[in-house]
Amino acid sequence: MIELLKENENLWDIFTRKEEYDPPLLDKFQRFPAYLSKNRNILEPKVSEFLIQNGLKVKYPDDREFAVCLTHDIDILRFSKSKMVYEMAKSLKRGKFGKSFRIFLNQLSERLNPLWNFDQIMYLEKKYGAKSSFYFMALEKGDTDYNYRIKDLKKELNQIIDSGWEIGLHGGHEAFHDPDMMKKEKELLENVIGKQIIGYRNHYLRFMVPTTWTFLKEAGFEYDATFGYADCVGFRNGMCHPFKPFDLTTKKCIDILEIPLTIMDSTLFEYMRLDLEEAWELTKWLVHTVEKCHGVLTIIWHNTSMDGFMLEFYEEILKYCQSQRAWMTSGEEICKWWKKNEFLGERQKME
Ligand SMILES: [Zn+2]
Repeated sequence: MIELLKENENLWDIFTRKEEYDPPLLDKFQRFPAYLSKNRNILEPKVSEFLIQNGLKVKYPDDREFAVCLTHDIDILRFSKSKMVYEMAKSLKRGKFGKSFRIFLNQLSERLNPLWNFDQIMYLEKKYGAKSSFYFMALEKGDTDYNYRIKDLKKELNQIIDSGWEIGLHGGHEAFHDPDMMKKEKELLENVIGKQIIGYRNHYLRFMVPTTWTFLKEAGFEYDATFGYADCVGFRNGMCHPFKPFDLTTKKCIDILEIPLTIMDSTLFEYMRLDLEEAWELTKWLVHTVEKCHGVLTIIWHNTSMDGFMLEFYEEILKYCQSQRAWMTSGEEICKWWKKNEFLGERQKME
């Protein structure tokens, strides 16, 4: 199936992300930004559309038309003292006294901590027949953005796994270009949960094409869910289907599944600065676009976005996708399904 793409130079360049091999500019997190891409159709999955037009057939369990991959990056579980004062002041300024008080309480007890919300997230998703992936960081004191000790979460992580949700690694700042760091973090998380993990997403969506995929494969991951833009929602390489990446340097596929990212919470409201109505219209539009291609829409909703209007927005997405009969599930389930079915003829392609 992928062979067909090679005959279409324009789509092949988009699919392989040729322009990212020698970027003229990167942002301060060494990310290739959407605004720099020559592909101005980021909101249209051009490559997936081409594959569907040329015979790609995808099916999902229970004859669902499309899938939604729900994910949560766990960056912060506790506010630092300075952050706590800042967040409390922000909430007070907005008249949210309750939230301000809860931020204070979170220092006293985990049960009162609004960010310690895995149970609530799972409960909410279950209500809509969904499940998801939680990507946890396995950093050590002194690492940039270190916020919690993964060893302290053993009980919670096992509860998440026992409920049927997925635990994956949220790689730290350096992991995307440091294979030793990536392996170290993976091992640390695996030691805590006592089982192998297969899923990955890098913090800040830091990613280097194609090297990060190669590192992930070598570290033993089965899939990645980093590949999207931080500064714009949509389809970074024109795909709304999981795929095996093609390395233009070695001229070979990399044996890892990419489940491309479509929407991140902060992309809608911070990077793109949309208001609620615009964000909702765009989200619905993306859902329908993916549905038409029988693709997978991948969403990041942080545990820090689970209150107020952000929580309502997330619940609206669940409600809406349930009404559209989406298969809402974790990256792990999508990965297993994709590997089992090989819709893009992956095995053939790898040989
Ligand atoms: Zn993160």
